[in-house]
Amino acid sequence: MSNANNTAVIFPGATLGVLGGGQLGRMFAHSAQAMGYFTAVLDKDETSPAGLVSHHHIRTGYEDAQGLAELAQLCAAVTTEFENVPAAALNKLAESLPVSPTGSAVAIAQDRAAEKSHFVKCGVPCAPYAVIETLAQLAAVNDALLPGILKTARMGYDGKGQIRVKTREELAQGWAELGHVACVLEKMLPLAHECSVIVARGRNGDIVNLPVQRNLHREGILTVTEVYEGNLPVTQVEQAIAAAKSVAIGLDYVGVLCVEFFVLDNGQLVVNEIAPRPHNSGHYSQNALDVSQFDLQVRCMTNLPLTQPRQHSATVMLNLLGDLWFKDSDVAQSPAWDQILALPGAHLHLYGKVDAKRARKMGHLNITAATAEQARATALKAAEILGIEAF
Ligand code: ATP
Ligand code: MG
Repeated sequence: MSNANNTAVIFPGATLGVLGGGQLGRMFAHSAQAMGYFTAVLDKDETSPAGLVSHHHIRTGYEDAQGLAELAQLCAAVTTEFENVPAAALNKLAESLPVSPTGSAVAIAQDRAAEKSHFVKCGVPCAPYAVIETLAQLAAVNDALLPGILKTARMGYDGKGQIRVKTREELAQGWAELGHVACVLEKMLPLAHECSVIVARGRNGDIVNLPVQRNLHREGILTVTEVYEGNLPVTQVEQAIAAAKSVAIGLDYVGVLCVEFFVLDNGQLVVNEIAPRPHNSGHYSQNALDVSQFDLQVRCMTNLPLTQPRQHSATVMLNLLGDLWFKDSDVAQSPAWDQILALPGAHLHLYGKVDAKRARKMGHLNITAATAEQARATALKAAEILGIEAF
């Protein structure tokens, strides 16, 4: 019998499971444990950031029947931290316990083509695009989509699986480079900036949102998130929140969902993509809001009440990539955390990853302050100490 729609509250003392052992799973485990839950992580990596801090660590792949059975046995509810976890694994677990988000919602977020049709269905504008799965579709591409970005429909993250193309020749060549897998060609849009909205929705349909995050990406990877009053014009803030909620409601979503947007030069808001889990751009919530995105993930999966997050500090988040470990030498060296922690309002979060590698997300730094000006000034000082280019 499926009890996936169970709306009974799961009280602290129970064990909560998460598929995926990355940093998002680690911070989920921290939130769950702070509320008195036990945690179980399924990830085959021995030293996964979440596995290292969880009460239980099941070291199997996502499709391992025995691993999934063990997780179902241990847990009262399960969530995911990894967007490319097979939907079939979530569906299998949902036969015996509540799973949020559902396999069907995750399957849509995993496929750029399905995701874009969902945006269209919800009446939320996205970049003009074409699906390319066959040579005929390649030949039929409208010139108006060039220059564009060719993105693999599945398994992309941090700008991976993307090629920028200016001409039809580059498009054909790019598709070959991507191995002729299913792709989406998106028109290259003139971006004024980028933002994202995180919403949390319960099984009873209650929905709350984090304040709108203003994001700066460099080389396809999130670098800085700024959240304070005035980070974006009020009309864009309202539009982004309304659009994010309709995308979540349209999916009948349960859990934490991030919706990423582009703000174009002409002020128009365009949805980029969704992530069916807490998001890097929401990490500031740990120190600047009265409830974090990970606390909300716990509340959603246990049917505890969702309260609208209140921001108590202006904040700037800096992502800490492995590159910072190689600022002065080819051998990894710990950045000057002593200097960073001398800055008022600096909150250091490191994910316990053993090896620093370039472009690898090692941690993040949340700077909080009474005003936006102070938060920015301190964050710029931190960036200078760490060797992050000013923003
Ligand atoms: P992540 O998983 O980190 O969110 P991703 O690999 O899924 O990234 P996208 O979000 O699609 O990739 O794109 C990464 C970045 O590339 C965007 O944040 C934006 O800066 C730029 N970009 C993507 N699509 C477009 C577009 N159509 N026009 C202009 N810039 C774009
Ligand atoms: Mg993205």
